[in-house]
Amino acid sequence: MKNVLVAGGGLGGTIVANRIAQKVSSEIERGEVAVTVLDRSEQHFYQPGFLLVSMGVMEPSETYVQERSVLDRHVRFLSGDKGTITSINAADRSVSTADGSVHKYDHLVISTGSHLQFNEIPGFAEGADTFFNLENAKEMWKKVQSFSGGKIVVDTALLPHKCPVAPLEITLMLDDYFRKKGIRDKVQLHYCYPVPGVFGIPNVNRMMTRIFAERDISVHSQFTLASVDPSAKKITSKEGESLDYDMLVSVPPHKGADVIGSSGLGDRRNWISTDKFTLLVKGHDDIHAMGDTTDIAISKAGSTADYESYTVSHNVAADITGNDAKKTYPGSVFCFIATGMDQATYIKFDYNHPPVPPTPSQVYWWSKLAYNKLYWSLHAKTMI
Ligand SMILES: Cc1cc2nc3c(=O)[nH]c(=O)nc-3n(C[C@H](O)[C@H](O)[C@H](O)COP(=O)(O)OP(=O)(O)OC[C@H]3O[C@@H](n4cnc5c(N)ncnc54)[C@H](O)[C@@H]3O)c2cc1C
Repeated sequence: MKNVLVAGGGLGGTIVANRIAQKVSSEIERGEVAVTVLDRSEQHFYQPGFLLVSMGVMEPSETYVQERSVLDRHVRFLSGDKGTITSINAADRSVSTADGSVHKYDHLVISTGSHLQFNEIPGFAEGADTFFNLENAKEMWKKVQSFSGGKIVVDTALLPHKCPVAPLEITLMLDDYFRKKGIRDKVQLHYCYPVPGVFGIPNVNRMMTRIFAERDISVHSQFTLASVDPSAKKITSKEGESLDYDMLVSVPPHKGADVIGSSGLGDRRNWISTDKFTLLVKGHDDIHAMGDTTDIAISKAGSTADYESYTVSHNVAADITGNDAKKTYPGSVFCFIATGMDQATYIKFDYNHPPVPPTPSQVYWWSKLAYNKLYWSLHAKTMI
């Protein structure tokens, strides 16, 4: 019996487990292979929905389902203590879980994601709103609706973080929301970013810098968040700039999962050293890493994890069946970028082809919404 373990049943882990199970379903039915997903949570969250929840475009209940309901019937699923990974022991090819079990593996796929570090910046938890988790996104939507005027600062604390385009999106959605409400002249919008410009990719930076100027959004970069003073309503950067605010919307610092660090598989922020083509963890021929947890210099995005799942599932199945050549990941990423409450553009790129975002339009906005709606029925189940 060959054991394939998938650590993390979020976006990447679910999709890759389903793809592997579909490729080796005969072997699973003959009892020769088992594919098991381990996750501490029974629920699967579709995090791109959180941005839309924070602006009232999506209902909170649309952003999660029971993980079991989107997994292929051939995939085993363990959650709670049985699925909470306490250590990954590469030397003896096993994973330990909080219920005391030790799971041996022949192939391990790690997709344990990236995690919000509210406490890394003094005052952040008390002073900042964010849309990077569901609870905070719900709170933020209440504040957005009752905001009647003043200064909104949109800030990115630290790179890298998941969904790199999200700060651009929330800024342009806020701008459009207050225009449509007829009070944009009472709202000052400021955008703080920790590297020069408004975004790291030159073509996107050029387009968005122009749009920000047209929409009267002030840019502060380089601005690396050092502290938030919730009582004075003021933020300060490591570069020495201070800015007051009436509402602060910020992306918190991110790190890989703690268990990656404590298992000796991560760098100082728990990102896993990963080959950008094979997606194998460096120094291990039986462990793949994918999604947000890798240290690959590419967007931490659901689409990245989805594209990576083709390579990982193909190569794991090829190892099991011994009848196929290996694939490599070309660095594919696709992300819609909302540029308002009813328009969007997108970026599509890989290691060799930079993105050229098209002129924003309503078509791309509706495509973004359609993608979100179809996630549970099609994408997570790898029906397309
Ligand atoms: C506001 C927002 C908007 C976004 N918008 C987009 C977008 O428009 N397009 C896009 O492509 N991407 C977007 N993303 C990013 C996308 O959601 C992530 O990149 C994607 O979820 C990464 O998948 P993953 O499998 O690496 O991690 P996740 O989906 O986060 O899954 C990680 C899983 O690991 C589990 N886990 C962690 N540690 C343990 C442990 N010790 N034991 C057991 N289980 C564990 C967690 O419970 C979780 O289920 C957005 C994200 C946010 C927050």
